Amino acid sequence: MKANEIMKQSEQYVLHTYNRYPVVLDHGKGVRLYDVEGKEYLDFAAGIAVFALGYGNETYNQALKDQIDKLIHTSNLYYNEPMAEAAQKLVEASGLDKVFFTNSGTEAIEGALKAARKYAYLRDGHSDHEIIAMNHSFHGRSMGALSVTGNTHYQDPFRPLIGGIRFADFNDLDSVKAQVTEKTCAIILETVQGEGGIYPADPEFLKGVKALCEEKDILLILDEIQCGMGRTGSMFAWQEYGVEPDIMTCAKALGCGIPVGAFVLNKKTAEHSLVPGDHGTTYGGNPLACAAVRTVFEIFERENIVEHVREVGAYLEQRLDGLVEKYDFLALRRGKGLIQGLVVAGRPVGEIVQKAIGNGLLVITAGTDVLRMVPPLVITKADVDEMIEKLEKSF
Ligand SMILES: *Cc1c(COP(=O)(O)O)cnc(C)c1O
Repeated sequence: MKANEIMKQSEQYVLHTYNRYPVVLDHGKGVRLYDVEGKEYLDFAAGIAVFALGYGNETYNQALKDQIDKLIHTSNLYYNEPMAEAAQKLVEASGLDKVFFTNSGTEAIEGALKAARKYAYLRDGHSDHEIIAMNHSFHGRSMGALSVTGNTHYQDPFRPLIGGIRFADFNDLDSVKAQVTEKTCAIILETVQGEGGIYPADPEFLKGVKALCEEKDILLILDEIQCGMGRTGSMFAWQEYGVEPDIMTCAKALGCGIPVGAFVLNKKTAEHSLVPGDHGTTYGGNPLACAAVRTVFEIFERENIVEHVREVGAYLEQRLDGLVEKYDFLALRRGKGLIQGLVVAGRPVGEIVQKAIGNGLLVITAGTDVLRMVPPLVITKADVDEMIEKLEKSF
């Protein structure tokens, strides 16, 4: 089928909840994607920070094919080896204690919120606990995750949301302190705000929030769904701050394309929260999804992906800073490693993204005025150079 026929068919049958770019992607190789007409795109979007290893990674694909032939799904009523191994990898990489696998990021958030409420419930027997979330955050689209997403545009049509949520300003410790009450059971934030516009947490802010949590026995939930899995140049972004969460959420690059997420609990939270009957999922952590997770960790280790991100991330920053110096309409760069945003002032960022697509470059937006880059983690310096060339052409 031709691209325009596929687009027409999609618009006829698929619920219109996305304004899609007029591109019909067909296959990928490495950090490049190809549309149905054979046009090549350099991919600096990675399916929104998902496909960290690039397309067509043979080890990854083979592991999935092997697992498909062996066993795809069993439910959580029985044990399976890929889940045991994937959980061990996640615990070892994070230093946390226990894992619950989900099918998406938003479900990881739901689980984290439930674990936090249960922890507080076991502590004092009350069921009116509050959670502090951040303005301009993004945690997902299900009702619980939406309730802690600090964006009224996303929230308003769907009220009433879950109760007991208070909002504070990211990177403003006093505003967080102002929302603390005797009912506060958790503070949730992204270590690097993604959708909101690529805002890394200030070290002093994150350390301050952690100290506040320790002082008041409040749980710290760090959402690493977008910024985790090596993207910032450490396995999880919080690791470079020396601030450990009580609960961490993962998804996106965790399965590198297979839909899988997780919430990971430290010992204290794991031992005093969810028990059999409290939480469950039919698919979550099924053998196919966990074979993906296990293989992703194996490839990360074998190919020193995190080390590579540090190196190529520094180069990307340098090249982007060069653009900020050169072009007046680029106000500044924000980000860490391979999650980067260029703040565009005085022209619509969407137009640049459209032009870039025309020039064979996939980049995305964040917030209202940020050009976002979340490429596969395996990009090279030569790919960065090519991206800069294509982007400048699109200005
Ligand atoms: C994408 C994202 C989510 C939601 O994940 P889904 O898999 O789309 O449900 C939650 N938090 C952050 C930080 C994200 O970037």
